[in-house]
Amino acid sequence: MNVYFDNAATTPLDPEVLDAMLPFLQTHYGNPNSIHGPGRQVRAAIENARKMVAHLINASPAEIVFTSGGTEADNYAACGTVRALGLKHGITSKLEHHAVLHTMQALEKSGEMQLSYLRHDAHGRLDLGHLEELLAANPRTFVSLMHANNEIGNLNNLTAIGEACARHQAVFHTDTVQTMGHYRHDLQQLPVNFLVGSAHKFHGPKGVGFLYRRAGQMVDALIQGGSQERNQRAGTENVYGIVGLAKALEIAYRDMAEHQRHIQGLKNRLIEKLRTEIEGVQFNGTSADTDQSLYTVLSVSLPPSEFNEMLLFNLDINRVAVSGGSACTSGANAGSHVLSALGCDPDRGTVRFSMSKYNTEEEVDYAVEQLAKMYRKNEVMS
Ligand code: PLP
Repeated sequence: MNVYFDNAATTPLDPEVLDAMLPFLQTHYGNPNSIHGPGRQVRAAIENARKMVAHLINASPAEIVFTSGGTEADNYAACGTVRALGLKHGITSKLEHHAVLHTMQALEKSGEMQLSYLRHDAHGRLDLGHLEELLAANPRTFVSLMHANNEIGNLNNLTAIGEACARHQAVFHTDTVQTMGHYRHDLQQLPVNFLVGSAHKFHGPKGVGFLYRRAGQMVDALIQGGSQERNQRAGTENVYGIVGLAKALEIAYRDMAEHQRHIQGLKNRLIEKLRTEIEGVQFNGTSADTDQSLYTVLSVSLPPSEFNEMLLFNLDINRVAVSGGSACTSGANAGSHVLSALGCDPDRGTVRFSMSKYNTEEEVDYAVEQLAKMYRKNEVMS
């Protein structure tokens, strides 16, 4: 059995999405910026995709800018806002994806702004009292805090954060890469200025995403050149990617309730089986808490063992694909900055399981068996 449990890294392309994309790789090759028929046909496909994305998240089409993915959308929001508004201060947390963290740190390094890090507890829960303090002390701030953490699955309360930002006239960007297509986002309700999506996290193609930018929000373009995307993002559009993104998001919204039930069921089974099979197993962050974590992600902390170093390799040779996140290894290329920020135990091993609609209960059982085998072997040998 081959088991793919690395869906937070990327998901397989849905065949329905591929079908929607194919004409734009085969027959519909016009440049959307050309005024002739073949160009106009492709332009219409892009604008229909924009309308679809906007409709699904209850925004208006003019608020959607297509990008090359989540990383570019995060860079665009952060750099574009800080530069357009001349903001001098930023707030983020050490648990953010590098797409945000490194971007904010680069803005600090270039002298464009000062950066403050929001405190969190050992489970990665953000200290919103500290956010109020930071906002009160720093008017004109750019805040970037993610909706769900890609490593430990923690969900943050966007409404509470957004309302705090609004009270202090701060600009709020949230990295929603791990929740787009898995949870509903209603931009008429959510108090955010920016959010982002990346198609390959919800069974769309790689290399395409979007930034939602609230109407009236000032932001400088990141990429200069032609006038594509209403002068916001130069370069000939990734047409089949954009068409695939919209189709993938449409399917994700259509089937969301059913898929959420299925995947949450797999996660519950995984937690139960791991607790039964592996003595001393723990879960990082709020990963095992249904209400406080992504239903797609479980970050497992394994007891100290001489085999922990080979954990991912052993799972891989048994055809189980997962991610790791060794926390406290030393050196410049130390493992996970998220687990390090949580102050985890360097002797424990970490495996991140991330599931999708295509996974099954049999796969959960098989993966747990492969993991448990290692620990049983360890018991015999030690
Ligand atoms: N933000 C988060 C939370 C992610 O998990 C990822 C991808 O792993 C990204 C940003 C980057 O997205 P992309 O791969 O589309 O650049």
